[in-house]
Amino acid sequence: MLTWNDIVKFATDGNPEPDCEVRKSEDEWREQLAPEQFHVTRKHGTERAFSSGMCDLFEPGKYACVCCDTLLFDADEKFDSGTGWPSFTQPAKENAISYHGDNTMGMTRVETLCNACDAHLGHVFPDGPAPSGLRYCMNAVALKKVEGTDAVATFGGGCYWCTEAVFRSVKGVSGVQSGFSDGEAAGPTYKEVCTGETGYAEVVQINYDPKVVSYEELLRIHMGTHDPTTLNAQGADIGTQYRSIILYRSDEERQIAENLLEEISDTFESDIVTEVKNFDEFYPAPEAHDDYYNRNPDQGYCQVVISPKIAKFRRTFQYLLSPDE
Ligand SMILES: [Zn+2]
Repeated sequence: MLTWNDIVKFATDGNPEPDCEVRKSEDEWREQLAPEQFHVTRKHGTERAFSSGMCDLFEPGKYACVCCDTLLFDADEKFDSGTGWPSFTQPAKENAISYHGDNTMGMTRVETLCNACDAHLGHVFPDGPAPSGLRYCMNAVALKKVEGTDAVATFGGGCYWCTEAVFRSVKGVSGVQSGFSDGEAAGPTYKEVCTGETGYAEVVQINYDPKVVSYEELLRIHMGTHDPTTLNAQGADIGTQYRSIILYRSDEERQIAENLLEEISDTFESDIVTEVKNFDEFYPAPEAHDDYYNRNPDQGYCQVVISPKIAKFRRTFQYLLSPDE
């Protein structure tokens, strides 16, 4: 549990590393967000007190960053501060939020930002209820209420259109985002990644509820729906961006991945070349690429490459499909 001493230390000596970083240009944020959301989160604005019904909302669930979906607060930590802004006593994770000294408005305050995308959220004060004594005073428009899903997995197995389409039909999966990971220079564009020279792999980032589908089950689906034995290639797609890769976020996930690769190694004729690496950063793909398969089912590439993969997945992992599939 964080206390005021920790907050002061973060603001003075530096903030903890985030689990993931999301970087977009100002124009991209402006396009993605409603004007009020953009003003508050990207321009350090403040909404009017009592302007949101979120103050009176105390149902169980979680609150995520409106910009990048990173989980920031659990509803269990929400309390009625009477200030007119939604208030929490503790973040969902110690590294979810970053803290910065703020000397505007003639006061010394501690500003809070989403640690993943630097969205301005509000301020934190040392006058909250015990035991933490903290009051995170948040702008409601910087937050969005989400259900209990809270785990994230990142895999690459060739063209992300294919991988994304597979995971979208898995039960317990609430979101799948295509993008790039494990490369060199920050903020790659799709064009740059296509050259195969950025070091980036095309990956999917999967949000899932671990009570419904486990990390291991997701891994089994991943390993069963691409060819992990072809180095830097999937079918006709050739280049390092198409490499087979598992990006773990904890030692436990690394262990699960290594054990599974060991277990299935005999089922393939050639050696498995899948990389197992520590997750670092994730850059979302251009929006036109989101959910490509479901939006373009008649496009030739999808028919030839993606549909057979989904058919294979449906046969092998019938029990993991969402009820609406
Ligand atoms: Zn964020």
